[in-house]
Formats: sequence, C-alpha cells, structure tokens
Amino acid sequence: MGDNNKLYKILGVDKKASQEEIKKAYKELAMKFHPDKNNGKPDKAETDEKFKELSAAYNVLSNESERAKYDDIGDNNYNNGSGQEVHRNPHDIFEAFFRSRGGPFGGGGHGFEEDIFSFGMGGMGGGNRQPKKAQPIEKTFVFTLDDVYDGINKDLNINIRKWCIKCNKKCNKCDGRGIIQQIRNLGIMQQIFQGSCEHCEGSGIITEGKSECKQCKGKGFFNEDKKATLIIPKGIDENYKTAFPELGEQPRVPDIKPGDLIIHIKIEEHKNFIRKGNDLYFKTDISFIDSVVGKDIMIPYFKEKININTNLFGVISNGKNYLLEGKGLPILNTSNKGNMFIEFNISYPKIKNKEKINELKTLLNDVFYN
Ligand SMILES: [Zn+2]
Ligand SMILES: [Zn+2]
Repeated sequence: MGDNNKLYKILGVDKKASQEEIKKAYKELAMKFHPDKNNGKPDKAETDEKFKELSAAYNVLSNESERAKYDDIGDNNYNNGSGQEVHRNPHDIFEAFFRSRGGPFGGGGHGFEEDIFSFGMGGMGGGNRQPKKAQPIEKTFVFTLDDVYDGINKDLNINIRKWCIKCNKKCNKCDGRGIIQQIRNLGIMQQIFQGSCEHCEGSGIITEGKSECKQCKGKGFFNEDKKATLIIPKGIDENYKTAFPELGEQPRVPDIKPGDLIIHIKIEEHKNFIRKGNDLYFKTDISFIDSVVGKDIMIPYFKEKININTNLFGVISNGKNYLLEGKGLPILNTSNKGNMFIEFNISYPKIKNKEKINELKTLLNDVFYN
C-alpha cells in the first residue's frame, strides 16, 4: 500500500484534518504560489510546480470519496490509475475553488470577497475568468564580470510580433481554449479526456489574413520595435532573473493580455578572475627569489589597478590563497563587497652554484632567524 501521507504533507495538514482545515490550507498556499503572483521571480519554475502539486492534492483531499480511496490505497496505487481525480488542470481547480461560493466557506461565503480582491482577481468572483495572458518569451543576455561589478543600465530595442486584431479570431470549435474535452463512459466510471483542438492546432485562434489589410498585409501579424531599459543591479549571478511585462508573446485576439519577456542572465568567464559567489580568485606566477624577498605586482581589478608588494603576505607559499579583503564583487542589494584571493604559482630554479649553498644557508639564517 505504500506511503499515503504525501498529499497531506503538500498541504501541510494532519491526516485527520477536517474539510475546513484542508480548504483553509489550500487557500493560503495556492494564493501564495499562484503563477500570476510569481511572474518574474527567480524561483518561478519551482513556485509553479508547487502550485500544481497543491491543486492536485487539494483536488483529491477535498473530495471525501477520493480521499477515502487515497487513504486506503496510498500514493503509488492512486497515481497509477486507480484514482480519478489526479489529472485536472490546476487553474481549473483554483478557479472552481473560488467560484463555488457557499462551498468552501460553509454557506455564507464570509471572507470570500476580500480574498478575491486582495488577490487582484476582481472579475473572478462574479463568474468571469481573469483575463488570460499570452505566453512569456524567454531570452538570455550574456554579460561580463565587469558588467556584474558595475551593474547594468542599458536601453534596448525589443522587436515584438503583434498579431493583427482584424485578421485573427477565436477558434469556435474549442471556444479559444485550444483544447477539446471528451467524456468517455468506462462502465461505472466516467473519465474526461483532453486533447489539442485540431481545427486551430491547439492555439485557440484562427488566422484569416486579408491581403487588403493595411496593418498586416494578410500575414496576420506585423513587427514593432519597443524601447525598454534593462536595469540590473551590481553583484548578480546567473540565477538572477528579471522580466519586461507585456513584451513577450502578444495576444492574437482581444481580452488576452500580452505575455512577459523573461530575461535570463549568462555570465562570461573572465580573463583574470575566477568567481566563487562574491569572491574573486586571481592567479599569478612568481619566481622563487621574488616569493622570498617580495615583488611589486599589479592586479587589474576592473577599472582599478591594485598595486601591492607580495611581502605584504610574508614569504609566499606555492598554491596558497592570500586574502585581499573587500576586493571581490559587490554583494547584491548591499554596499558590501566580497574578497579577493591571490594564489601564486612559484617557479623553483635549479641550483647552479653548489659551492655557495652553505653561504646562502648562513645568510638565510641571518635574514629569517636572527
Ligand atoms: Zn480550436
Ligand atoms: Zn490584418
């Protein structure tokens, strides 16, 4: 039978939780992890996944007979097909939850309006769907470590493809959903199958370009340049994500909002430094004699030059990291910086004049120990 606790864990409720508690847990978590609330956030992929899990868990546990079945047969068996309630669309579950006045909140619907409005989904309570959003477009920009050090403030021209409102219309076969639902009767069970709409190839839209159309000349779309300023703070790493609202995929029919343009960052390797978090690692060669007596070196630190003498660190050891405090990368959203670590690669000479070795030994003893 296996573990049959997972769905409860996802909602953070006890196995004996009442329907009231299950609904309360779902409401709080689903609003927090709803995709519309997490647009442009760096962990959006995870929060979207979480939202799906939450909705699936709620979908089963809010239905007493499915819940009993789940409790009885456990996770593995339930997901392997004995459960009926696993494959619903999380958005449908979420919307149904908020639409069913009287259900979730015990008849009166108390607290319902506030919940909806605080979430910014004014239309939904009245039975209307929230305006849908077109797909995001993801784009990767490559930056240098110098950019990371300085921060970025860059004007961009973003070419977007706009769909001609006159030449695109909603598919009437699927009512613009791109999906066709079929209900099949399997003995005592009824199962809902979903498939892509063939009429519109799943897009929900039919293009009928009219060659006399001034806007698109019959192509159904036209391109437009939009100006946008990319502002990226100092000290970012490749996990940093940002978005230009509404510069992603454009709607093909009215009452759909444009999608967002999501910006991912890639950072090039630097010729002088290796980056680890906010710290920089710098490697340089030094001769054996210089490692002992000290040498003036210059470290190119972005636009700055750091001049030091290696005897700052005493006699240099090969391969050891020497710390230069505060000479790393800016730490995101602070005025602090990480550190720099300098590693020396010492080239050791061969002894050419063995007769002088004893003299050298005496001299070294004098220098280091007397
Ligand atoms: Zn269709
Ligand atoms: Zn047109």
